[in-house]
Amino acid sequence: MPVHQAFRFELDPSDRTRSALASHCGASRFAYNWGLGLVNERIERRDRARSEALKELLSDDEAEELARRVEVPWTLPALRREWNRDKHVVAPWWKENSKESYSSGLDALARALKNFSESKRGTRTGASVGFPHKKKRWARRSCRFTTGAIAVVDDRHVQLPRVGTIRTKEPTVKLRRLLDRGRARILSATISEEAGRWFASFTCEVEREDPTATQPTAVVGIDLGVKHLAVVSTGEVVERPTALSRYERRMRRLGRELSRRQKGSRRRARTRARLARCHRKVTNTRRDVLHQLTTRLATTYGTVVVEDLHVRGMTAAPKPAENGDGSYAHNGARRKAGLNRAILDASPAELRRQLTYKLIWHGGDLVVADRWFPSSKTCSACGEVKAKLPLAERTYRCEHCDLVVDRDLNAALNLAAYGRRVVAVSGTETQNARGGGHPRLRPKPPVKREDGSGQPGRTVTVSSQGEAA
Ligand SMILES: [Zn+2]
Repeated sequence: MPVHQAFRFELDPSDRTRSALASHCGASRFAYNWGLGLVNERIERRDRARSEALKELLSDDEAEELARRVEVPWTLPALRREWNRDKHVVAPWWKENSKESYSSGLDALARALKNFSESKRGTRTGASVGFPHKKKRWARRSCRFTTGAIAVVDDRHVQLPRVGTIRTKEPTVKLRRLLDRGRARILSATISEEAGRWFASFTCEVEREDPTATQPTAVVGIDLGVKHLAVVSTGEVVERPTALSRYERRMRRLGRELSRRQKGSRRRARTRARLARCHRKVTNTRRDVLHQLTTRLATTYGTVVVEDLHVRGMTAAPKPAENGDGSYAHNGARRKAGLNRAILDASPAELRRQLTYKLIWHGGDLVVADRWFPSSKTCSACGEVKAKLPLAERTYRCEHCDLVVDRDLNAALNLAAYGRRVVAVSGTETQNARGGGHPRLRPKPPVKREDGSGQPGRTVTVSSQGEAA
């Protein structure tokens, strides 16, 4: 079965290449902002046609006709058409970059506009999406290439349109071998900068041949904890890497330092860079540990049960005071909330993202418990549900049947039981995700892509080391 898979490599660009990469990302941002400016201008013009001042001169019908004639470019083809007409004037230097860079920015804008209108119409699930903002100078730099000379040249080099051949810091062997054997096809390449480092991510269509899980009928539940990284219903406890706590302490310290620094100062920029590097280390460390866990789960068990993503968000992170209109009391609180979210809440999403595709590879199923399922408050022995269970209480004590068990293990056991009920109801115990079956058993698509594009699909990111295989 062909799946979409992303291979990500850190680049080792020369100075010349580095500036070419930056230039392409800048061009992408330029096109995005230019397009957004155009859209705003057209909307304004359309509104003006309908406005009172004009109505005195024109009849209502005439004003409406005038408004209708103002075309607001809302899709990629429309935006591209306008861009190709205007680029000679607004960006006489356009030839310096691959045309893909401008297309990438316009594509991101078109998708943002689409998300906005779908959200407004109510046809889009998830958090509501506002009208796109101008991309600021310090926005994350990235650019996507979809056509042209995109290739893996050899075990240490990749190639991109206009930018040319770039050395990689990590070996590209794994992808190269797949490409050579005709088992993979590159669909697009995205370059991005993170804390001063450059990366290239190749989205590919890959023909995978994975062995099925060793215990295809087994059902396990997973609870992600704050104390431990995760607890599996089999009793297995996955500890948090000690490095993680160290980085997190440092992140908190740097966060405080940042808020003390004067805006626009060089010291502030330096602290910000340090914080970004630290953030990256935390993310990578946690991702690596989760990769080891999810690979083991997907290759072993047929069904894995996790709790709904919303659950933890509602309980764990300390919330800053809200002003009622959705804004926060002051910036400091929001920043702190952001930090805590980064530490605690990214895990369930990442766990689910990895499990989603790995289970598909190995023919397993992911069951996501209903968001109202009280996995923590229920007794895993007798099913009694507690009215209250403070987060600080690490041990579950049942007043009904005298069960005493670790809080997280209790939750994991409940999730496993939930999964067994779902499997029993759907009667697809031995059927895998590829064979269809009960819709609830089908893994939900990844929530959101890391590049924030919100593009649906089964694209997954695997590091060059391929620990996900
Ligand atoms: Zn009980």
